[in-house]
Amino acid sequence: MKVTEHIAQAKDTLLSFEILPPLKGKTIQTLFNHLDPLMEFNPSWINVTYHRSETAFKKKQDGTFEKVEIRKRPGTVGICAAIMNHYKIDTVPHFICGGFNKRESEDALIDLNFLGINNVLVLRGDAEKNEPSFLPEPSGHQYAIDLQKQVVNLNHGIYLDDDIRDGGKTNFCIGTAGYPEKHFEAPNLEIDLQRLKNKVDAGADYIMTQMFFDNEKFFSYVNQCRNMGVTVPIIPGLKPITSKKQLSVLPRIFHVDIPTELSTEIMKCRTDEDVETVGTEWLIHQSKALKKFGVPVLHYYTLGKPKVIWNVVKEVI
Ligand code: FAD
Repeated sequence: MKVTEHIAQAKDTLLSFEILPPLKGKTIQTLFNHLDPLMEFNPSWINVTYHRSETAFKKKQDGTFEKVEIRKRPGTVGICAAIMNHYKIDTVPHFICGGFNKRESEDALIDLNFLGINNVLVLRGDAEKNEPSFLPEPSGHQYAIDLQKQVVNLNHGIYLDDDIRDGGKTNFCIGTAGYPEKHFEAPNLEIDLQRLKNKVDAGADYIMTQMFFDNEKFFSYVNQCRNMGVTVPIIPGLKPITSKKQLSVLPRIFHVDIPTELSTEIMKCRTDEDVETVGTEWLIHQSKALKKFGVPVLHYYTLGKPKVIWNVVKEVI
């Protein structure tokens, strides 16, 4: 079922979880072990992130270095299929521009369609570690909206190869990313919001947000979207803070603020276990207030912390 169908049929706030593919070398069972406890909450679907390969320099025996491509977390599409088989639940693969040319994107969409996966979260992806800014593949897409247009075309049976007439139509429900605290490359929130609206006008069916720790920023974001005429569901992305290190890591990597009240409490903690308690309490309060606000779904980034998410969700549902 599509994400939008789940939302349309819901009688209460829905739940969804996000996982990362396991590191290369680990089995699918490690992932099932991660998800098993969370399945008791009957999530509506599971998102699976996508991780492109990275360029690294590997030291050779003679002391020189060799440039190698490393893909640490492969398997997004296979994992979605495995989760669907194992739990009989819908999945949402993240689908990025980075590392793909248009033909490869089309082939990946055809694979997803054949597997019966009809949800995609369409994203640009970030710059490679050794690149100053995002660079598309030759003949790849520059922005998420461009990849999204390709998905919309395929939904209309339009393939890259114009020899294909009456092509089979896919039926993808398209999610897009939104940033309550602005995407870091956008000059200001207004321009970022206009670009978000462009993605919705071009066919995105719902918005999934970057994590945030201050609900007021999310509420204001939703209001601004609605005032601009963006009517699609907006799903909040939620993550617990579980270590002191995250006070600097999360703002640096995800460009989000940690509210003073939360950071003050975390700085008082003596151990990461204490931080986990504070982070869990904060996320419970955040989730309850979001539910009251009427969000359609609470979407949790589980990222290696299923127990914390379990502790939060059992207090919220
Ligand atoms: P876009 O919508 O293309 O926007 C990127 C930037 O370009 C923004 O600053 C926007 O304002 C600007 N822009 C858009 N259109 C134009 C234009 N026409 N002219 C000039 N500027 C423009 N990354 C992964 O690699 N794998 C994942 O699995 C993944 N999952 C994510 C899930 C969520 C919910 C979110 C919020 C992010 C995720 N990301 C993931 C990170 C994402 O790829 C990065 O944040 C990326 O930098 C931007 O992606 P986007 O889809 O928002 O891009």
